[in-house]
Amino acid sequence: MMADDHDAREILKPLVFRLHENVPAIVREVLLERGWTEFDKKEQDDTDWNLYWRNSPFRRTDYCSIKPWQRLNHYPEAVRITRKDYLARHLKRMKGAYGSALYEFSPVAFIMPNDYVKFMAEYSKEKQSLGRRPTYWICKPVDLSRGRGILIFQDIKDFVYDCTVIVQKYISNPLLISGYKLDLRLYVCVTSFCPLTIYTYEEGLVRFATEKFDLSSLDNVYSHLTNTSINKYGASYKKYKEGIGCGCKWTFSKFRSYLRIYGVDDLLLWKKINNIVILTLLAVAPLPAASNCFELFGFDILIDDKFKPWLLEVNYNPALCLDCSIDATVKRKLLHDIVELLNYKQIDALKQNQVAGMKAIGTRVPLSKTGESALEEATDLLTCQGEAECTAASSVQSALQAAKGSVRKVVTQTKKTARGHPRKTLTSQLRERMNMPKTSSQAKAETKSKQLPGAVHYPHQSVQPSRWLPTPDFRNCKLTTFPYFFSDRDQRPIPRVGDFVLIFPFNEAALQASRDGTDVKSIIQEINNLVNKQLPSKQQKTKKRVDYLASV
Ligand code: ADP
Repeated sequence: MMADDHDAREILKPLVFRLHENVPAIVREVLLERGWTEFDKKEQDDTDWNLYWRNSPFRRTDYCSIKPWQRLNHYPEAVRITRKDYLARHLKRMKGAYGSALYEFSPVAFIMPNDYVKFMAEYSKEKQSLGRRPTYWICKPVDLSRGRGILIFQDIKDFVYDCTVIVQKYISNPLLISGYKLDLRLYVCVTSFCPLTIYTYEEGLVRFATEKFDLSSLDNVYSHLTNTSINKYGASYKKYKEGIGCGCKWTFSKFRSYLRIYGVDDLLLWKKINNIVILTLLAVAPLPAASNCFELFGFDILIDDKFKPWLLEVNYNPALCLDCSIDATVKRKLLHDIVELLNYKQIDALKQNQVAGMKAIGTRVPLSKTGESALEEATDLLTCQGEAECTAASSVQSALQAAKGSVRKVVTQTKKTARGHPRKTLTSQLRERMNMPKTSSQAKAETKSKQLPGAVHYPHQSVQPSRWLPTPDFRNCKLTTFPYFFSDRDQRPIPRVGDFVLIFPFNEAALQASRDGTDVKSIIQEINNLVNKQLPSKQQKTKKRVDYLASV
């Protein structure tokens, strides 16, 4: 068999996904739709997959044995932010360190039973302060979700709990649409915690309560909780509700149009929400470094009647079940965009299949240290690998080093080695194409041209500036690393992929501060500068609109 024929066949091979039990059906559907195939343990090599999706955390060994062509859908210890008590603790610490003005976006919270005395002091203080409207509290079990076990109360005599809970100030003046309470399910994808790289999804879900908001019936879950898992069982769920329609969901697009009709500056609101996301993730940074992972978080944001956004909680494995047509539209595209964000190259399928292919013809591609194998050939095209002694299995280490900014020398070494590779196979031509400087029109078509033949059926949007955010400017950046979410062209995080918009790093200084470990102090200083710049100019222009918005 000619080497070229072999390469051509391998390039046409699809990417491979691996699903653990209980992964929502839509994940499989979307990947199959894109031309991927499902991993078959009996037929395939253990490493012969590109994406492993689980609903539960991976084992340490999964992170250690990751290969350059693979991605995992969780980071180690992401739970630090998704358990209600851990999150409350982290935010409290940040409030203490950086001031409550910046971190006042999460309702005051107490972890019970530990904080019982502090809570009682606060409860009594609130009760005694004359002339203020009464304070309400919400009690939530720390490790439950979907509205289970929640209790809202005003009087301490109604407060009972039998497990670890957090008690939060209840936001009793939520924004209402036609009398119905709502919150936002914002999707956030972290492609790396080191260097910190955060994307928010422009489309999302507005989730309504299905009975009108009423503080005189605190035990009516359909009036006070916006979880779909609860409201879909409410008597009004299927009924047409004036002002919001049937069901209990809107898209963000619809919500933004609604806000604009009423003269609300949705751009400013979204900037505030993005600040919340960054400040929240900074509270847990740095997580233990791990390469080739990503984490999809569901941020629950409540907006009050002054248009101030509040963070309620951060969800691990945000629900991907399809309860209605709005879910299907938003979540299907979300998953397609996630796969785009994972930035697979043709070579990812090739590499994974090359091992299998070579085995089939009786040749084992060595994971050698010499730089002569096709596995290494791809290494400097893929992520931030490049150590002379880098094997595929050690790609994790090199990515970590890259994050520490220590790979410049190493990249040069690998490039030297790569020059010795045979160049006339399809593989090497592909490599050459990927390494060649692009014209601007080629660059525009970049993602499309790199997609696997037959593997992608989803129309990918080219990189374009966000409607809501300034496009991050990395022109003067000096990063030499190449994590998977970096563009080949300028070795910077791709500013926009589908509806995912890069929100961190948001400028050169933030990028530098997140490279060598995470310099939270400098980053917060940058955020302060930005916030200070944003507000005065807006206030001058549209005082009326800004009046709606509380300061961040
Ligand atoms: P769960 O993980 O059980 O969904 P959440 O913290 O998301 O817990 O709370 C469920 C719902 O309760 C939210 O979607 C929101 O409607 C309401 N809620 C939670 N916390 C507050 C709060 N502090 N103020 C007002 N409403 C809240």
